[in-house]
Amino acid sequence: MTKSSKESLRIIPLGGLGEVGRNMMLLEWKGEILILDMGFRLPEEDMPGVDYIIPNVEYLRDKKDKILGVVFTHGHYDHIGAVPYLMPKLWTPNLVFFASPLTRGIILKRQEDFPEQPKLKIKEVYDKSRIKIGPFSIEFVKMNHNIPDNFGLFIETPIGNIFHTSDFKFDKNPVNDTPTDFNRLREISKRKILLLMSDSTDAEEEGHSLSESEISKNLEEIIKNAKGRVIAATFASLINRIQQIISISEKYGRKVAIEGYSMRTNVEIAKHLGYIRADPKTFILTKQIENLPDQKITILCTGAQGEAEAVLMRVATKEHPIIKLKKGDTVIFSSSVIPGNERTVQIMKDEILRQGAEVFHYKMMDIHAGGHAKKEELKKMIKIMRPRFFMPIHGQYSMLVEHAKIAKSLGMKEERIIVAENGDIVNLSKKKVFIERKIVPSNYVMVDGLGIGDVGEVVLRDRKMLAKDGIFVVIAVVDRQTGKVKGSPDIISRGFVYLRESKELLREVRKKVIGIVQSATGSGRAVNWAYVKNEIKEKIGQFLFSKTQRRPMVLPVVIEV
Ligand SMILES: [Zn+2]
Repeated sequence: MTKSSKESLRIIPLGGLGEVGRNMMLLEWKGEILILDMGFRLPEEDMPGVDYIIPNVEYLRDKKDKILGVVFTHGHYDHIGAVPYLMPKLWTPNLVFFASPLTRGIILKRQEDFPEQPKLKIKEVYDKSRIKIGPFSIEFVKMNHNIPDNFGLFIETPIGNIFHTSDFKFDKNPVNDTPTDFNRLREISKRKILLLMSDSTDAEEEGHSLSESEISKNLEEIIKNAKGRVIAATFASLINRIQQIISISEKYGRKVAIEGYSMRTNVEIAKHLGYIRADPKTFILTKQIENLPDQKITILCTGAQGEAEAVLMRVATKEHPIIKLKKGDTVIFSSSVIPGNERTVQIMKDEILRQGAEVFHYKMMDIHAGGHAKKEELKKMIKIMRPRFFMPIHGQYSMLVEHAKIAKSLGMKEERIIVAENGDIVNLSKKKVFIERKIVPSNYVMVDGLGIGDVGEVVLRDRKMLAKDGIFVVIAVVDRQTGKVKGSPDIISRGFVYLRESKELLREVRKKVIGIVQSATGSGRAVNWAYVKNEIKEKIGQFLFSKTQRRPMVLPVVIEV
């Protein structure tokens, strides 16, 4: 190790930079590592069967005992969701976590689904709490977002101070929360900020984010005017939005049924910890909706992103046992669409409209739009903190670049702004910041049912191929003695062409398969069956493509008898 890298801090984003979600970052000083957040993200439409994508922690594989601890900024799944999937790789009896009471509650509740995992030691921290972990000392700074108990992090490191904004917006009229404390932020900046890391999710949006109370007003307008039932879909972790929908429903005499496992558990936790306030009589069970007039009912559910298993999708596809859509229903999508889910959400919306319900889709109520600072606020954050160096975090690459431009427009020199992506090693010293040449693994790790990371690129490619052009199985039985194919090869196919109408094609395929096998066995020498199978795969694949312009997955099966 060179002297300079010994005396510099390494900042390694493993997720969340160059994408929305999957936030996880490492701060490394002389080999000791502090982890900030462990989030997941939802898969995109072209990842069939994948449940979540989690950060790649290959870099930490042989450094488990160098981990100083894990600090969480807030309870959104893109900041905590990967915990149960990473524990098998990272947990040691000494591993300590730090989180606010709400964040802690959500993490621990989720751990109940993983009873085989060890109990996690999560220490509660509050606004203004200070902790010391190894060479770092951290002060927690309450920031407005759309979930309570969200902390920015003021981190003292051996080379200088870092301010990490977490996800944030400035809000003068928040719901269930205190307004942004600008005096405190100014006081922090007086302690000299070497590096500011700031949320870029809405860096491409002009102006200011909406205050939570303004979002409330919009929601109220819809609910007030709804003639029948209100079905409001949102993220289970959008505690503020859930609170707003409950309060407004109460105001207009509506009872609230909560549908969806994650939504119910989150509401339970938040109620228990006092983050959601409501009259206990407001809540009803979903099956009780049949006993109430339609205009007295609000159904709060998951699935605004078109998630296949979530409540709204099941309602839209008429698979829900109790909730059937009808004319007069008002369906609210209280979140904008995460890139990659547009098509699915569109299909779901159309289905809902076909069944006679009205649909309201408000981008401004979104987890990724409503909760994040826009251009003017981002400028203000930079102006308050006056950092020596600046690094945009949390967002697609275009958002990071735009955020960098914002910093430049405020007079920051280009060489002091660092646009890093997942897997980069940002090397920060008192005098300069740069990205090291080496990168660490940061590619997707996919969670699929119970498997973690065993769905690789190959499996995904197979699934895409199957979904697109189907499968084509060729079974040839070969006589060991003569090397000749017995009878005619069997062909099974799904999702490719209708076999009965493709007799000529199949006849030619059979002829070709016999030809390939017998030219390999004809010499009388030992036969390399792997080669034969590969030949069938390649040649038949090419042939089918030339005839149909499709590329089904060709599976050759050769049986010797
Ligand atoms: Zn968030």
